[in-house]
Amino acid sequence: MSRPDKPKTLADWQALAADLTLESRAFIDDAFVDAESGETFDTLNPATGERLARVASCDGPDAEKAVGYARAAFDGGAWSRLAPGRRKKVLLRLADLMEANKHELALLDTLDMGKPVNSSLGDMAGAIGCLRYQAECIDKLYGEVAPTGEETLALVLREPLGVVASIVPWNFPLMMTAWKIAPALAAGNSVILKPSEKSPLSALRLAQLAQEAGLPRGVFQVLPGFGHTVGKALALSMQVDCLAFTGSTGVGKQLMQYAGQSNLKKVFLECGGKSPNLVFADCKDLDGVAQHAAEAIFHNQGEVCIAGSRLLVENSIREAFVEKVLAAAEGMQPGDPLDPESFMGAIVDETQHRRVMDYIRRGVEEGARLRTGGQALEGKGLFISPTVFDGVTPAMAIGREEVFGPVLSVFGFDSEEEAVAMANDSDFGLAAGLWSQDIDRIMRVTRRLASGQVFVNNWAGGDQTVPFGGVKQSGNGRDKSHHSLEEYSELKMVWMSLST
Ligand code: NAD
Repeated sequence: MSRPDKPKTLADWQALAADLTLESRAFIDDAFVDAESGETFDTLNPATGERLARVASCDGPDAEKAVGYARAAFDGGAWSRLAPGRRKKVLLRLADLMEANKHELALLDTLDMGKPVNSSLGDMAGAIGCLRYQAECIDKLYGEVAPTGEETLALVLREPLGVVASIVPWNFPLMMTAWKIAPALAAGNSVILKPSEKSPLSALRLAQLAQEAGLPRGVFQVLPGFGHTVGKALALSMQVDCLAFTGSTGVGKQLMQYAGQSNLKKVFLECGGKSPNLVFADCKDLDGVAQHAAEAIFHNQGEVCIAGSRLLVENSIREAFVEKVLAAAEGMQPGDPLDPESFMGAIVDETQHRRVMDYIRRGVEEGARLRTGGQALEGKGLFISPTVFDGVTPAMAIGREEVFGPVLSVFGFDSEEEAVAMANDSDFGLAAGLWSQDIDRIMRVTRRLASGQVFVNNWAGGDQTVPFGGVKQSGNGRDKSHHSLEEYSELKMVWMSLST
């Protein structure tokens, strides 16, 4: 079968998949190598159960080696002291290479973690856009001259941090990676990437492209492996200056402890969510809003940090509105992730599948009304139908905890006051949505929602110009936009005494 350049159909994607050559070794210094221990782990395709590759399982000794090379590269200055405009050129070359290989990169994410391939292609646009944006930013940032007296020249300079360890999750493997590594590299740091053990393949392909783009040796390295082994070793390293993390709140808390136990490295966290989506009776086009509300939870099989998992609906329209959401959910049944027509794909692995099914069982036991879904689909592969519970209360597990699967919890409210209180009654504060035509209400409610971002009459809007991040236990970092460069650089103050 010939390799299609621009796959469009299921058959095209299957042909491309059949023709893939997978890199499964770690990328350390400037070479692809096995783990020091020789250990590997299997990465499986959750849609078929087939093994894709045996991947190098890095651990402490690999972390130590990579940190040494990263530190040497940083101190050597081939990247850290390179003029920003020249760093920009290399990163733009990397973005071009990603663009040229975007079908293959998208396919790797789909095979590794089960998301529909069209959605993975959308992620590639986000990842490439992020590289280009951060590359373009870096030679447009100026330092400051402080407003002191004439006898002094005081400078405020921005400098890279040193060695950054980026630890990322599996739900948007390459896009989350780009959000971390693009500003970190642009700012001049050496970066060690630890992809999730559930989705390491696109990161290793990225390493090949980074090498081809001309990143100097030791500046970008990739260590596949588990969190409790190589992830922990990086987090406890005395030579790592910054941990840039996206993942669960529980692991985020552990990383802060590791930083405290080691060298007080900076820790930027993008963690979990249980995002409320508020629908007021005055909003226009209830059919359209219901479609958005269903997409907000079922996109990416619900494996989205900002999934609109709590749907808060004004009681006067609730019954009719829930019917519309059910109708929308009906059209979002999971299918073959390689089929461009599929809206939902497979759940990433058996552990996550079990976890989601367990939450569904608890929802029923705790008295929520299961309106649709709740089933694991028969046959090979890990698929769960879109699931909607009505009559959920904040006391129920499905009302409070992050399920990270296609499970929507519907709550009712009678007043704006009650809606805001309910929305804010959460440990998380990543995203919130608000649907209304009343501008006064929009401004009142937007200001009162305890959330990193608020989507008004849309869900999940944003582009590279706008930062992304949460409050409360959803984390403390900001990805994207020029603000993310601030996370990966440090202010240095220079006070010069002048003779006058
Ligand atoms: P996770 O926390 O289990 O793992 C994330 C990463 O941390 C993985 O690479 C893992 O190997 C590593 N890790 C695990 N234990 C570790 C340890 N002790 N030391 C060092 N590293 C360790 O999360 P996940 O299951 O991969 O991803 C799902 C979570 O990510 C959800 O909670 C989701 O909300 C969150 N997420 C947040 C955002 C955001 O921007 N806020 C974006 C995507 C996903």
